[in-house]
Amino acid sequence: MLEVRKLSAGYGNDIVLRDVDLTVAPGEIVALIGANGAGKSTLVKCLSGLLPPRGGTITLDGERIDGLSARACVLRGVCLVPEGRQTFGGLTIDANLRLGAYVHSQLDEASVQNLIDESCRPFPALLPRRDEPCANLSGGQQQMLAVARGLMSKPKALMLDEPSLGLAPALVSEIFRLIADLRGRGLAILLSEQNARQSLAISDRAYVIENGRIVACGTSKDILASSDVAEKYLGVG
Ligand code: ATP
Repeated sequence: MLEVRKLSAGYGNDIVLRDVDLTVAPGEIVALIGANGAGKSTLVKCLSGLLPPRGGTITLDGERIDGLSARACVLRGVCLVPEGRQTFGGLTIDANLRLGAYVHSQLDEASVQNLIDESCRPFPALLPRRDEPCANLSGGQQQMLAVARGLMSKPKALMLDEPSLGLAPALVSEIFRLIADLRGRGLAILLSEQNARQSLAISDRAYVIENGRIVACGTSKDILASSDVAEKYLGVG
């Protein structure tokens, strides 16, 4: 279980997150929705050790992880699939995947191969092309690669920052379908998205963040039915 209590964080003199409380249980998909600049990326950066919190606690299975380095967070089982995918176009798909397992340097080649097979199972388009440069992949396939690379770290908690960003509408639906299919793996999945409608459709619970504060949380069904959320995030009155 990933648990965030009274988290605050910011940049320089600016406090961006205030008193954020959030939980994600294993096997659960939790959506974090909010407008551009609301603080979604700042929150997932804190959870993955890329930004030190200013206050509050982050625990994974009861152990404090706030203040740990990004590498230590990955080792404990928290992995961020960053906004914009951050795949390496000049490297092969295989090399990109292996980078995801860099913290598990003790693995022998047979174990790495098994991990590649396991991590790519949800994304069958990737494996037949593993020796091609990643730059050959479409945007949607690069997003799939970014998620598969995240799975290579053997996470307990997986955070996806805006996975649908910049994708054509047909691919957006495909990416959300594939994320929904990850539910069976027992991971705690936090899905940070501006696309409220589709992230609420595939998630179990959701948090709404505005100006760095959680302003609503509940089952995704209830959040979807809320008139306030509909007005602000779903483009209907
Ligand atoms: P987006 O969808 O645009 O990424 P977001 O909800 O993820 O939005 P954040 O990126 O967390 O929002 O930004 C929250 C606030 O923090 C914004 O006001 C933003 O300008 C500010 N911010 C983000 N990154 C930095 C940074 N590196 N230095 C200073 N301020 C930052």
